[in-house]
Amino acid sequence: MFGNIPLSKKLMSAVKEMGFEEPSPIQSQTIPLVLEGHDVIGQAQTGTGKTAAFGIPMIEKINETSRNIQGLVLTPTRELAIQVSEELARIGKFKRVRTLPIYGGQAIDRQIRSLHMGVHIVVGTPGRLLDHIRRNTIKLTNVKTLVMDEADEMLDMGFVDDIEAILEHVSKIERQTMLFSATMPKPILHLSERYMDNPVIVAISKEKLTVPLIDQVYYETREKLEGLCRVLDTETTGQLIIFCRTKRGVDDLVASLSGRGYMADGLHGDLSQAQRDRVMKKFRESKLEILIATDVAARGIDIDDITHVINYDIPQDPESYVHRIGRTGRAGRKGIAITFIQPREYRQLKLIERATKTRIVRRALPSPADILERQREFIKERLVQTIEQGEFADYHHIVSEVVQNYDPLDIAAAALKLSQEGYKEKEKPREDKANYRNTGAESGMVRLFFNVGKSQNIRPEDMVRTIASEADIPGSSIGVINIYEKFTFVEVPEDIAERVIAVMHRNTLKGYKVNVELARGR
Ligand code: ADP
Ligand code: MG
Repeated sequence: MFGNIPLSKKLMSAVKEMGFEEPSPIQSQTIPLVLEGHDVIGQAQTGTGKTAAFGIPMIEKINETSRNIQGLVLTPTRELAIQVSEELARIGKFKRVRTLPIYGGQAIDRQIRSLHMGVHIVVGTPGRLLDHIRRNTIKLTNVKTLVMDEADEMLDMGFVDDIEAILEHVSKIERQTMLFSATMPKPILHLSERYMDNPVIVAISKEKLTVPLIDQVYYETREKLEGLCRVLDTETTGQLIIFCRTKRGVDDLVASLSGRGYMADGLHGDLSQAQRDRVMKKFRESKLEILIATDVAARGIDIDDITHVINYDIPQDPESYVHRIGRTGRAGRKGIAITFIQPREYRQLKLIERATKTRIVRRALPSPADILERQREFIKERLVQTIEQGEFADYHHIVSEVVQNYDPLDIAAAALKLSQEGYKEKEKPREDKANYRNTGAESGMVRLFFNVGKSQNIRPEDMVRTIASEADIPGSSIGVINIYEKFTFVEVPEDIAERVIAVMHRNTLKGYKVNVELARGR
């Protein structure tokens, strides 16, 4: 079941793999109608999942053993044709449904060859489709489902005549017709009266939205991960929630950020209640800085002290934007909402701005120089703190020796450099536990990085058993274990960390050679 829509196994697997947790409103209202055979007009804002709203039922109806074109989708632009065709291919992946985008600008011979090999769904721009119809290189007599996607735009672009000409070629009796659009101007209703059979109209309306008074900014970049890291490195941190659109997105981002040394964990619908509770507890107790979640999983999270809400994926609609950012700036505290967009999502951002009647200010990504600057400030702060705390008499005699040959200013600068870069790997591991650099573990613990993970079928009990027996320590002394696809973090007490590294490094786990090193802290 996708929400409360019954779907075939193959489509359920696809939807799951795409990371959709539940149907969006337009999907939950239109899919059942289409499955029942109604003609449907769907109106909902951009980014609300209209493609899957027609794609899912369309693909359910495809007979994949036939090689005829059974589905036809009209889209206004070549980019959309490609995008829609790709999304349909993902939905039809396990059913082995073949889709083909057809648009002007691509060599027509190649399209003819692809058509000849047999496809189930064609997604095309009106002009090029008509071209094929006139050349007799496309056969539309078996089309059972026809979709006009982004109908308002097609009309704006002056495609009415082309669309009508195409519709004349698709059997009216056998055909089920759908029309999807963000807006519903009059000419669309005319079109639907002429070419649709008693269509059911589904319109998802917008609720009235009040936006909290917090700073709202956005960054535009194609490299969102890099951008996010730069922002994380320059923001004075507090507690952050990062939103991703899908479960997969959450998992991937948790892995990417953890791999780069950030303390991040994820929350989504595939986790058991116990797992969610554990993550939430860590977050509440500030043992976790970054919580990464889907909209669904974040529902009902109630934490007051969140300083940043980051939309790593732009929300699907203004409502969810407002829900997301409403998690910061509670009780008059200061908060900031940060949204990352890729260039093509600019329209979606503007739409959110318009619908919520707020301004989301563009910001330039911090440059490496900004990050350095920020680190310097941080070092300076810590240095002054350390001087004021005054517990460094132990080091005096080192300095008094070195100062006989070097300038004190140079010594201080070199010491800072050393503290930043850490001591070189080649040096013998230090006995002094105070020397462990920050590995992102709880105090008294050291976080170790193992280069094996889920892909090697590593489970927590494997880690505990092997480490405990190899290093001859009680399993209960081993702390938090986080297993990701390709690597694992294990926290062990500081005083035995060295032994664990020594016995586990280049050892084997489940037959895989293991590399172990100190994890990178923040
Ligand atoms: P629209 O056509 O309404 O503008 P799209 O169909 O392009 O919107 O969908 C926008 C994005 O939302 C796509 O990346 C799509 O994969 C994703 N999406 C669609 N349905 C869902 C869902 N039920 N859950 C999560 N993401 C979804
Ligand atoms: Mg669309």
